[in-house]
Amino acid sequence: MHQLGRGTWAYLSPPGTWGWSNCGLLVDSDVALLVDTQFDLPLTRELLAAAAEVAPGVEIGTVVTTHANGDHCWGNELLPRAEVVGSSACGHGMAHEVQPAELAALSGPGAPATPLGDYMRRHFGSFDFEGITVTPPTRTFHGHLDLTVGHRRVELLEVGPAHTDGDVIVHVPDAGVVFAGDILFIDGHPIMWTGPIENWITACDRIAETGAEHVVPGHGPMTDQAGVAVFRGYLEWVAEWAQKAYAAGLPYWVAGAPDRVPAPYAGWGNPERLVITMAAAYRELGEAPHELLDVLARVADAEPK
Ligand SMILES: [Zn+2]
Repeated sequence: MHQLGRGTWAYLSPPGTWGWSNCGLLVDSDVALLVDTQFDLPLTRELLAAAAEVAPGVEIGTVVTTHANGDHCWGNELLPRAEVVGSSACGHGMAHEVQPAELAALSGPGAPATPLGDYMRRHFGSFDFEGITVTPPTRTFHGHLDLTVGHRRVELLEVGPAHTDGDVIVHVPDAGVVFAGDILFIDGHPIMWTGPIENWITACDRIAETGAEHVVPGHGPMTDQAGVAVFRGYLEWVAEWAQKAYAAGLPYWVAGAPDRVPAPYAGWGNPERLVITMAAAYRELGEAPHELLDVLARVADAEPK
């Protein structure tokens, strides 16, 4: 837990790679709002213990789920009395995307002895996907929703579809903080599951418009508006490069190979994830969709050895 102001904390999960996601905690007197839970139940219990340490005796009455990926919401069931708030598209995504048992089968000890099975085991094998009951939002919205935590105002802005279908960012005006969910990755390559990329660039502009001093990414260390601008530059590069590569007839996994990443972003982690982003960008440009497991197999092949 890193305190960002009165009653405002970021919960950071280094190293911020696959599944290691950040959360937020807002407190006023005896009530609290949590932004996102963790990928599994043991990690969410650690998060809740850390919250109880900085805000003893406080009841978390609200959980905001920024989007449907499991690393941001598969701990929701541990807050059975809280209202869970997310976009309608997020609720739909949680019910219809890859479920914990499927991910366990893809990444557990029984995962196939293939490069993809090996990749999944190495990146996801340390999480515990047993016994998770996916718990979608109990309150959904479109566009914009203001919430209160005690006397504090919290603004939810739906900025998806971008990273996923129903991305939401959380702006806390009195603390000058934005919890960006996976609209922002710092020090690692983002993953565009759905796009369009133009929406994602606009989402960066909406973070900038808040004027927030502190920006908490979904993965990686804290940043500020300068960090958001660098990330926006990456997305612009992706948009431009995808168009060129598609027009030149390069397959998406060649366009997304780590050796295509330009110098400013070459040090970012998980460069093989650019393959996923390129598959989504090509879809926008007219290519027929590819099966998720086929795309992930290309990702495993592209990982720098
Ligand atoms: Zn994430």
